[in-house]
Amino acid sequence: MDREKIIQAGKIISDVREYARGFIKKGMPLIEIANKIEDKMEDFEVKPSFPTCLSVNDVAAHGTPAHDDERIAEGLLKVDMGVHVDGWISDTAFSLDLEDSEENKKIIQASESALDSVIEKIKKGIPINELGKAVHGAIESFGFNPIVNLSGHEVRHYELHSEISIPNFDNNNSNPLPEGLYAIEPFATPGSGKVKDGSPSGIYILIDDKPIRSPLARELLDFIKQEYSTLPFCSRWIVKKFGTKGLFGLRQLVENGNIHSYPELVESSNKNVAQTEHTILVEADKITVTTE
Ligand code: MN
Ligand code: MN
Repeated sequence: MDREKIIQAGKIISDVREYARGFIKKGMPLIEIANKIEDKMEDFEVKPSFPTCLSVNDVAAHGTPAHDDERIAEGLLKVDMGVHVDGWISDTAFSLDLEDSEENKKIIQASESALDSVIEKIKKGIPINELGKAVHGAIESFGFNPIVNLSGHEVRHYELHSEISIPNFDNNNSNPLPEGLYAIEPFATPGSGKVKDGSPSGIYILIDDKPIRSPLARELLDFIKQEYSTLPFCSRWIVKKFGTKGLFGLRQLVENGNIHSYPELVESSNKNVAQTEHTILVEADKITVTTE
């Protein structure tokens, strides 16, 4: 692992996150927010490690604006973002209540306190389910539920979601946590605590670079390999580069099995969801919250 680049990716996204916290207001178009955040990353001369997600209310994750998106910031907004330095990734998220709602504020506090409780506990060798137990306990103490089918994840070089999952409940996995880089992301909700697939999100990932006949799709595939490698990307970025004809190319690549299309993830009882996330480097003798 390149410790220096991991720390750098964390420091940059933490600055971008504080910048985002400062300008996001109710009623702003989501696309304007995403563009400002991603322009700021460019100012730091780094690329996003995945499309900036702006998920509203019962959309727990994978909400990202399309090129012609008309949605605005409102309700309980989750802002999830990351950058990478030569493939070394950061991943962080915060939630905002844009309605002055006591319940929204409490849901957000629950996810923040769950993340704090993991940061207090996490170290090399801890049984993985102890971390899930800490998330569940913290969120339950606010009277809410964790989302049990979303989890934190190990992060590796050019690999956002790697092998090891960090559950948001006690899943009985008592294996010791190895040294490594982990994104911890508790989700809290007054709802049932599960997500289901919603509409297509416009987020994709390369799964197979097998040949494809269409010249447009081939050009797109080369661009995707070059520009995003094995990291997620979105239709908004493709339209920026290729215009709307890029959307046809994306469809061809999905049909040919070159790329996978992700759906939005929606709370199954349609209740609001809050998310808080940090990336944490776990080493033999210490832990470092890289996105603090
Ligand atoms: Mn994230
Ligand atoms: Mn994550």
